[in-house]
Amino acid sequence: MSRSRIDVVVVGGGVVGAACALALQQQGLEIALVEMQEPAPWFDLQPDLRVYALAPDNADLLQSLRVWREVCESRVQPYRRMRIWDAAGGDELVFDADTFGVAQLGWIVENSLLVDRLWAALQAQGIRICCPAKVETLEQFDDSVRLRLNDGTRLDASLAIAADGADSTLRELAGMEVSRHAYHQRGVVAFVETEHPHETTAWQRFLPTGPLAFLPFSSGHCSIVWTLPDTEAERVLALEEAAFGCELTDAFGGRLGQVRLASSRVAFPLRRQLIDRYVSGRVLAIGDAAHAVHPLAGQGVNLGLRDVAALCELVRVVHTQRSDWAAPHRLQRWARMRRSDNTVSAYGFDIINRIFSNDEMPLVLTRGPLLGLANKLSPLKRMFWRRAAGI
Ligand SMILES: Cc1cc2nc3c(=O)[nH]c(=O)nc-3n(C[C@H](O)[C@H](O)[C@H](O)COP(=O)(O)OP(=O)(O)OC[C@H]3O[C@@H](n4cnc5c(N)ncnc54)[C@H](O)[C@@H]3O)c2cc1C
Repeated sequence: MSRSRIDVVVVGGGVVGAACALALQQQGLEIALVEMQEPAPWFDLQPDLRVYALAPDNADLLQSLRVWREVCESRVQPYRRMRIWDAAGGDELVFDADTFGVAQLGWIVENSLLVDRLWAALQAQGIRICCPAKVETLEQFDDSVRLRLNDGTRLDASLAIAADGADSTLRELAGMEVSRHAYHQRGVVAFVETEHPHETTAWQRFLPTGPLAFLPFSSGHCSIVWTLPDTEAERVLALEEAAFGCELTDAFGGRLGQVRLASSRVAFPLRRQLIDRYVSGRVLAIGDAAHAVHPLAGQGVNLGLRDVAALCELVRVVHTQRSDWAAPHRLQRWARMRRSDNTVSAYGFDIINRIFSNDEMPLVLTRGPLLGLANKLSPLKRMFWRRAAGI
């Protein structure tokens, strides 16, 4: 049984939790990380089906954690363009790196690679890792929290951070409520081989059933996120490989020629889930534990990493003043800022999903011209880009 008093316990060692543990340790805090299962090592011949479109501000964060170079040396795919259009016709909305004077708009990167490199850094930094272990109980005091794990470990800390995903246990133990909305849609993900090159472009076609994204992954290969109503997702998952390829080719309007399935397929249920209070005493929630959003803008993990960057900034500023950085009133300031960004994003994606994922005639007729208009308005486009890029 361990009885040490530390600064922060981070529960959950996914991308957001692991990055948070590393970033706070860099601020001079003593950290313990609790994770229920050892992450599977990244293996280049078995790409992870869960890939992210990582935004530039988060690449900077990973750079400051000294893991970005290692990730880039393994496998990342920069993308220079985004093309968004509606299946019913009309103009395209195009974002081009050259227009914004940057080398790329972002990077496509595998979840397991990010976790693998973050964990290597956690171990190299000597951060205490309790794994496999789960939190069983939580007690809150005025100036600390006490967590008991299922292996008998007791952890006393100034702050506990819930980074244990959308079904967070720590959030529940702290009595933090969430409001949920099920989209009754699933994201079907897979790798595919395309007849024509992807042109380092992230493509998204809106269909009445939901958006279909082709993200450039490697030469001749894309990662797809195909949003479909639950029953349709089940149907396409059960299709023979060749039939799946044909339906996908059609759904994408043949934009990259014939498409062939190049991996297994899985589907994730999609939901919007927002926490009511980001802070409860000395527990706070980040990442999917605080907010789960529709994947149509590829912002889920990006929002979580922005929670981390903002928290580190708070700790940095308050630490130099030598005051209690984890005092609830200080955490509330962080919470207000992050709530606003995450809520605007979650409802923004919601509105886009509602407008585009249906075949009501008035909306069908206005969608194409709307995208075309947005494409012509440079300041609006720049505003969208700056928001997505976190700059
Ligand atoms: C189809 C699909 C496509 C997506 N595409 C994108 C994209 O392009 N870009 C993007 O930014 N996001 C995307 N997302 C969202 C992204 O996957 C999540 O936002 C991201 O994984 C959240 O990271 P996290 O670290 O907060 O949570 P998670 O990745 O869920 O990690 C939580 C960790 O906590 C651990 N854990 C859970 N319970 C406990 C417990 N009780 N005790 C200890 N440990 C525990 C888990 O084992 C896990 O390691 C997509 C999601 C879906 C479904």
